[in-house]
Amino acid sequence: MKRIAVLTSGGDSPGMNAAIRAVVRQGIAEGMEVYGIKYGYKGLVEGDIELLDTASVRDQVARGGTFLYSARYPEFVQLEYQLKGIEQLKARGIEGVVVIGGDGSYHGAMRLTEHGFPAIGLPGTIDNDIVGTEYTIGFDTAVTTAVDALDKIRDTSSSHNRTFIVEVMGRDAGDIALWAGIAAGADDICIPEREFKVENIVKRMNEAHKQGKNHYLIVLAEGVMHGEELAEALKRQGDLSDLRVSVLGHIQRGGSPTVRDRVLASRMGAHAVKLLKEGKGGLAVGIRHEKLVENPILGSVEEGALMSINPDGSIKVNFPHEAPIELYR
Ligand code: ADP
Repeated sequence: MKRIAVLTSGGDSPGMNAAIRAVVRQGIAEGMEVYGIKYGYKGLVEGDIELLDTASVRDQVARGGTFLYSARYPEFVQLEYQLKGIEQLKARGIEGVVVIGGDGSYHGAMRLTEHGFPAIGLPGTIDNDIVGTEYTIGFDTAVTTAVDALDKIRDTSSSHNRTFIVEVMGRDAGDIALWAGIAAGADDICIPEREFKVENIVKRMNEAHKQGKNHYLIVLAEGVMHGEELAEALKRQGDLSDLRVSVLGHIQRGGSPTVRDRVLASRMGAHAVKLLKEGKGGLAVGIRHEKLVENPILGSVEEGALMSINPDGSIKVNFPHEAPIELYR
C-alpha cells in the first residue's frame, strides 16, 4: 500500500492529534504518502483532502482537539454518500484509511471496508465506551480534567458545608464519573450501569450527616440524568436549600493530552499503519493488558466497564494484571 489517508470523526478527544501525527510519521517511514481528510466523512465526500508531510504534524503531539477538524455527517449512513467518498479516494490513488473516532465513526469505517477500502479504526473518544479496548484515546485526559475540577469544588463545598452535584460527561457510559469520583474521593457516584434510586442517595446523605459530615459531593454521569434534574429530585425528598449543581461540560473534551493519552495515541497510530501495510482492514485497534490488540471493527462482544458498582454500594475494579479489588466507602 503506497497511499493512505487519516480522518477524525464524531466527538473530538484529546490525543487525536497525537494519533494523526503517529499515522503520518509512521506512514512516511514506511515509504507511503499520507493524506489528511478534513471534517471526517463530510470532507471525504466533498474531497477536502490534502497531502500531509512530516512538518504538517510538527508540534501536534501536545495539542488538544484535532487539527483535521471533526464533523457529524449523518448523510454518510447512505450508500450513495459512501460511494461518493470512495470515488474521492480512488481519484487520489488512496488505498486505505485510518478512522479516529467513536462507535459511530467505526460504522463508517466498516462501510468503507465492505466497499473494498481497508479501514482501521482507532478509539478516539473521552467516553471510554468502545468495545474491545480497555482505554480510549482522550479518556485519561478527560478524567484528569474532571478530577482537577472536583478537587476545587470540594474545597469550596467543605468551606460552606454544601452539597454539590457535579455532572460529568460520558454519554451512556459511567466510566468518567466512576474514575473521577474515586480519584476525587466523592461521597456518591451515579452511573447509568447501575440501578439508580434517589432515596438511596438521600439515605446515604443522612447517614453521613449523622456521622458529623456536613458537606457531600455527588458525581453524576450525564447518562443518568442532568444535574438540575437530580437536584430537583433530591430537594423534593429533604431540606437541601444549600444544594449546588456544577456541570463540567466541554472542558472535559479539551486540553493538552496527558502522557498516557499521548503514548496510547502514538502507539495506536503507528500500529494502524502497520496493519494497513499488511493489507488488513475492518479492524479496530485496542489496548488490553497494556498490549495493543486488534478486533473486528464491529461485532466484538460487549464487555463490562473496567469498573462497576456492586448492589451494596462497593466498587469493583478490574485493573489490568490484577485480581479484581473491592473499594468500600
Ligand atoms: P462517534 O464516532 O463519536 O460515535 P457519531 O456517532 O456522531 O460520533 O458518528 C460520527 C460519524 O460517523 C457520523 O456523523 C457519520 O458520518 C458516521 N456514521 C455514524 N454511524 C454510521 C453508520 N451506521 N454508517 C455509516 N456512517 C456512520
